[in-house]
Amino acid sequence: MSATAALKARTFLPFHRASIGKEEIDAVVEVLRSGWLTTGPRVREFEAAFKNYVGAEHALAVSSCTAALHLALLAIGITEGDEIILPTMTFAASGEVALYLRAHPVLVDCKKDSFQADPAEIARAITPRTRAILAVHYGGQPCDMEAILDIATHHRLKVIEDAAHALPSRHKGAMVGSLGDITCFSFYATKTLTTGEGGMATARSQELDDRMRILSLHGINRDAWKRYTAEGSWRYEILEAGYKYNMTDIQAAIGLAQLAKCDDMRQRRASIAAQYGRELEALDGFHTPQMEEDDGNAWHLYVIRVNSSVLRVNRDQVIEDLKRRGIGASVHFIPLHLHPLYRRLGYRDGKFPNAEEQFNAAISLPIYPGMTDEDVDRVIEALSEIDHQNRK
Ligand SMILES: *Cc1c(COP(=O)(O)O)cnc(C)c1O
Repeated sequence: MSATAALKARTFLPFHRASIGKEEIDAVVEVLRSGWLTTGPRVREFEAAFKNYVGAEHALAVSSCTAALHLALLAIGITEGDEIILPTMTFAASGEVALYLRAHPVLVDCKKDSFQADPAEIARAITPRTRAILAVHYGGQPCDMEAILDIATHHRLKVIEDAAHALPSRHKGAMVGSLGDITCFSFYATKTLTTGEGGMATARSQELDDRMRILSLHGINRDAWKRYTAEGSWRYEILEAGYKYNMTDIQAAIGLAQLAKCDDMRQRRASIAAQYGRELEALDGFHTPQMEEDDGNAWHLYVIRVNSSVLRVNRDQVIEDLKRRGIGASVHFIPLHLHPLYRRLGYRDGKFPNAEEQFNAAISLPIYPGMTDEDVDRVIEALSEIDHQNRK
């Protein structure tokens, strides 16, 4: 490592840092001073602003994207023995919600050299017990929704979108959140919009929204929170066994402040992606993500792949090397089928070669609005050195 590199390594560039400013802090203080902390006026305001932003008919704020996915499957009537098709290249949450309902997560492979599910594999996985397709917009790049919606229509299946990475993302001009039956967003600490923990479920129909809304708060009829306001009554009815998935006004206040910056934050991530793309493309040791002409990518992740035909170091060694140079990196994702839970369900190594190939080479680089151009250059410089020092 050169002297300058050693110097730079002293200040660690984290893989992610949330963009929290005075707006978020002031908004939280205001809620704390208001005397009403949990689900209330801020949550309803956040839902209205969010639904407007993504062009959805309905939006329900919840405690996490996992909660949103669970409610989505409940709302479309998933029950024991049903099959849900989803990509193996995703996070734990996308698959576990099927298991909550004793339904079967049916995993499918990625397209070759891609992190997105292969629509042909989705079509091939359909059986008489298939009820829904869970589409994941990996990294913020919308997956092939046109093909997936076609397959769903043809086989009368519901489409639930895991849009944990996809705010804001566009597919052929339409915002993600306005496409499928239900779309689930995450506001977890590392996501493109954060409320610390939180999520949103947008729905196309009133019926699905109503169903999720009731289930999200103990199965109590929908304006339950209003019973604490001047216009409310103490009386309520429990319609069924629901869950405790509501969002708090504290979270919603952060969300509203974040939503106002959402386009600017995306703009900054897109320009970081462009800077990475321009410089890293020249390195034979790494494959860079494709920059689409009509870029609808939220750029939640910027994932490069180690080219093992050129470099004599593997993905893990490159991540270690970056760490020594003071740069945080990550991997998205260990495909679901390689985890013990899915082995117990009968999945084996080698089952999804495209996903395994992608996983083995993948490195997620830091990409967040708080990064300076110098931070981005530092990552590029480190990768250039790693590239030059490790040729076969
Ligand atoms: C983060 C994430 C989730 C879960 O989001 P939470 O809000 O933490 O529940 C679901 N799916 C994907 C693909 C994710 O990355």
